This record gives sequence, C-alpha cells and structure tokens, in this order.
Amino acid sequence: MYDLHVHTNASDGVLSPVEVIRLALKSGLDGLAITDHDTLQGVAPAQDFIRSHQIQLDFIPGIEINTDYGEDEVHILGYFVTDQDSRMTERLAYIQRERITRAENILARLSLFGIDIDMDQVRTLAGGRLIGRPHIARALIAAGHAQSEADAFARYIGRNQPAYVPRYKFSPQEAIHLIDQAGGISVLAHPGLIHDKAKIDAIIEMGIAGLEVYYPEHDVSEVKELKELARRHNLLTTGGSDFHGTGPDSRTRLGYAGVDRQTMETIRDFYQHK
Ligand code: AMP
Ligand code: FE
Ligand code: FE
Ligand code: ZN
Repeated sequence: MYDLHVHTNASDGVLSPVEVIRLALKSGLDGLAITDHDTLQGVAPAQDFIRSHQIQLDFIPGIEINTDYGEDEVHILGYFVTDQDSRMTERLAYIQRERITRAENILARLSLFGIDIDMDQVRTLAGGRLIGRPHIARALIAAGHAQSEADAFARYIGRNQPAYVPRYKFSPQEAIHLIDQAGGISVLAHPGLIHDKAKIDAIIEMGIAGLEVYYPEHDVSEVKELKELARRHNLLTTGGSDFHGTGPDSRTRLGYAGVDRQTMETIRDFYQHK
C-alpha cells in the first residue's frame, strides 16, 4: 500500500518528516509521498533519513499546492517534483514572503482592537516553517486573548472575522503549469470536496494528469464516479490519507487511503515516459 497524501510539520502536520517515515515503517506501508502545503521543505529530511538508514520504503517527493478558483479553494498535488526547478522554488519562496506580509497585516488589524502581538513571537512559534494563522492563534492564547485555537479563529482571525486577511494563492492553471515544468505529475486533490462539479471538468481541461480517487472522505459512489471520470479522460488515479498527525483530533491515520502496487507502477510508468 502506498499512501500518496501525507503532511509533516513542514506545513500543518504534527510529526516531523523523520517521524512520519518511522510511522510509515511501523504501519507496514510499501511507500509514501510527502505532500506538504506549498512547500518542499519536508522532502529532503525524509529522503536523507531513508538514505542514511537504508530504509526499504518507496519514497515519492511531492507537494500540495493550495489554489484559489473563484469562491472555491482547490488543491493540486504534484508528484516527483524536486527543489531543483528554479521557477518552482522562486514561486514557492514568493508564497512564503507573502505569508509573512499577511501575518504582519493580521497583527496590524489586531492592534486596532488593542491586541498587541509581536511578530517575532509569531516567527518563533512557526519555528522557521511557513507562517500561518495557527501560529497567530497560539500567540493570542499565550497573551490571554483566546481560550483555544478554535476560539481565536472564531473571534479574530477566521474568515469574516475582524482580523481576517486572505492570503495569496496561485491559480490552478499556474500550479499545474509549475508542476509540469518541474517535470512532475499534477493531480487534483480530493475532488469530492469540490462542490461545483463543473470546476472538476474545467481543471481536467487545464491539463491535469490525474485525479485523487481514493480519499478518506470519498464514499463508495464518489470513488466509482471518479474512477469512471479518470477512465473517460485517460487520467491517472491516485489516493492518500491526508494524514496530518496522530492524536485525539486527527481525522485520519497514515495509510487509511492509498493505492496498491499496480496503480503505483502505472503512475511511475507515466512519470518515466513523460
Ligand atoms: P493559513 O494557511 O495561515 O490560512 O491557516 C490555515 C490553517 O488554519 C488550516 O490548515 C487549519 O489548520 C487552521 N484553521 C483554519 N480554520 C480553523 C479554525 N476554525 N479553528 C482552528 N484552526 C483552523
Ligand atoms: Fe492541511
Ligand atoms: Fe488538501
Ligand atoms: Zn492535504
């Protein structure tokens, strides 16, 4: 079994890349892809660990790019993408800088309500990784302005709340194009979560290479429909758990969804003959 959708603490996951690899071994997976939001930073530590310990695990470097498509947020997975591609690296660095500016804007809004949070504290909480609202939420809790992260989002930084600032995202077209140019395979993540089905067809038209068919929140009939859609358009089928970490509020476990060896071979074959 190959779990092709896994997050680490390089984005919003809980476990480090090394911890994820250890858990993959314990779970008996044949392989996995690390697919952090808008960053490749979790890939090299995982690869180094696998190499230095000669771990028998088929590792696929990946990414999950969050894009804006009208009112919807659409996620595009990229497989076999490396940080060797300069355009990809440049655009991801831009996203990272935009996140910093956005965090500063959120703090400026909070100060209008008499809440002063220091940007250095937010940076420290992010620990050198992508700065996100969860870090601001934790700073709000530490300063006694919120009871929990959910409370911080509900009262201040969540969508439609007074200190909300949207963040810069790529378009689906650019994400697909960037992955293509970097020699990778683009896959539409969890299509079942897209309410406007016409958008799925439009993304297929944009030249996506595959659909994430197997996903914890896809029910049997959705899986069937997506398989049929992939077959009609000659697209790859992939799958993964969208694992973000262990613990009481984790929505899924590592290896909860994925693809078998044969499907993985088809994906790899497509990549090698690109
Ligand atoms: P950002 O990428 O900075 O916009 O932050 C998005 C992250 O914030 C998500 O990945 C969630 O982990 C977290 N988040 C979003 N909404 C909420 C919420 N209502 N309560 C707690 N965490 C949230
Ligand atoms: Fe996430
Ligand atoms: Fe996603
Ligand atoms: Zn994900």
